[in-house]
Amino acid sequence: GRAAPPLAALSQVLRLERSRRTGIVFPLQKLERYLAPGTDTARFRLFQPGLAALQRAEALFRSDRGHSIDYVSSAVRMDHAPPPTLPEVCFIGRSNVGKSSLIRALFSLAPEVEVRVSKTPGHTKKMNFFKVGKYFTLVDMPGYGYRAPQDFVEMVEAYLQERHNLKRTFLLVDGVVGLQKTDHIAVDMLEEFGMPYVMVLTKIDRASRGVLLKNVLEIQEFVKENTQGCFPQLFLVSSVEFSGVHLLRCFVAHVTGNLPTVEAS
Ligand code: GDP
Repeated sequence: GRAAPPLAALSQVLRLERSRRTGIVFPLQKLERYLAPGTDTARFRLFQPGLAALQRAEALFRSDRGHSIDYVSSAVRMDHAPPPTLPEVCFIGRSNVGKSSLIRALFSLAPEVEVRVSKTPGHTKKMNFFKVGKYFTLVDMPGYGYRAPQDFVEMVEAYLQERHNLKRTFLLVDGVVGLQKTDHIAVDMLEEFGMPYVMVLTKIDRASRGVLLKNVLEIQEFVKENTQGCFPQLFLVSSVEFSGVHLLRCFVAHVTGNLPTVEAS
């Protein structure tokens, strides 16, 4: 196993001074102060859990005796997927968007969990299933892109249409470059199927504040004007600095029904 990186645990984040702490736990709110006065920021705070909820979510992502987090299996076809017994979330995104890094960051308090990557070109891409105790399953979907849109579309379409325990899809978008043509394929598919999903902007440590603000505002506007199923609040993450990872754990706990509702709002 690996050692958990710094700031992987809330207890470490709580030791930081206030402004840095806000930047790590609520990266979107950190941007608010740079917006023009009068900008509507209601969408920045729809999901704003308190410390108790964040801690409760963290406990789900921390393995210990009596609570194991396990890689279950990989599947190329739906009939190889594990039985749909627990609430489930899935993560999708273009190859290289930072999906494995984010899943590794989410599971960093369970260092025995191995997040596999299959990047060899031409290598069959699979859906990887992880089981978080008796609470939920998390699926790492194959990365899509340029070379493999067809694989992606077929496997992901079947999954999205058939997986009745799927509670939410997390669509990862590169925070440095914003929405790309291939991201729109995923958005169109989710919209067509009427699936609830969330957009997660990755690698925010790499974007300058100006670029990040521009992308956040543009994507937020796109979501408002062009989507039905997308949660209006964007989630910003850096798997390197751990920004947004705690909040994302909490949102996963929430959408899988593992947080008391009073704590989530
Ligand atoms: P995947 O193909 O979507 O699974 O992408 P990876 O997680 O393998 O990441 C692709 C590349 O982006 C790798 O070189 C990562 O080190 C880098 N990367 C991923 N997440 C972050 C991040 O949050 N910040 C920075 N700076 N780099 C990242």
